[in-house]
Amino acid sequence: GSLLVAEDLHKSYGRTTALDGASFSIHPGEVVAVLGPSGSGKSTLLHCLAGIVPPESGTVRYAGRDLTALTDRERSALRRTEFGFVFQFGQLVPELTCTENVALPLRLAGVRRRAAEATAAQWLERLEVAGIGGQRPGEVSGGQGQRVAVARALVTSPRVVFADEPTGALDSYSGERVMELLTEAARTTNAAVVLVTHEPRVAAYSDREIVVRDGRTRDPDYAL
Ligand code: ADP
Ligand code: ADP
Repeated sequence: GSLLVAEDLHKSYGRTTALDGASFSIHPGEVVAVLGPSGSGKSTLLHCLAGIVPPESGTVRYAGRDLTALTDRERSALRRTEFGFVFQFGQLVPELTCTENVALPLRLAGVRRRAAEATAAQWLERLEVAGIGGQRPGEVSGGQGQRVAVARALVTSPRVVFADEPTGALDSYSGERVMELLTEAARTTNAAVVLVTHEPRVAAYSDREIVVRDGRTRDPDYAL
């Protein structure tokens, strides 16, 4: 069955309609690209799917649970334990080393420093940036920073990774390498990936594409 299903989402910001009947489904371990022009509603769709933004109408179900029916506290607990996030600009904590950044979600989940940093170091190695663990985000390249962000998103073994233009700030070579490493890591942990991008070359790393246009989705495989 489906892991994450959104049905007929609507969302406006003032007079701007961001979502106007968007539907989405993803299976465990599946990599789905959400494609569409700038302003078509891709980020809003991702934020609704992840329980960050409440839709005005429509439903989002994750593992059979209606996100609309959860309390804010339950939704943030779910985000911390089941979801991982990668953004266009890594959004790493500048004061922490790369290893500490990757360890942070584990530390917040109560894992002790030594164990959390050992797991973080393994993830940096998997992302082929083992050598920068002691450096701060400001001291590494954009591509290295995004690999750290991917490691941080995967360190808790989430069931869904939400990636919003994860390569948007990178040159095409390091962008493709980040996509290879992200999708490979997701496959080995059976995490599903919701990948928002306006670049067909990035979407090519997905198993399936959903096109958003004027807040509406076109998903040929959409089924409840
Ligand atoms: P995309 O990710 O495809 O570029 P978005 O979901 O970011 O599209 O935006 C969809 C529409 O909603 C756009 O017209 C955008 O300007 C508007 N929008 C998105 N977020 C906000 C916000 N927080 N406040 C006001 N308008 C917003
Ligand atoms: P606000 O800043 O307007 O208070 P909240 O994020 O606190 O927005 O949520 C407002 C309402 O929408 C709450 O009742 C919450 O339960 C619901 N909500 C928030 N996110 C989602 C979501 N992704 N799906 C369904 N309902 C949601």
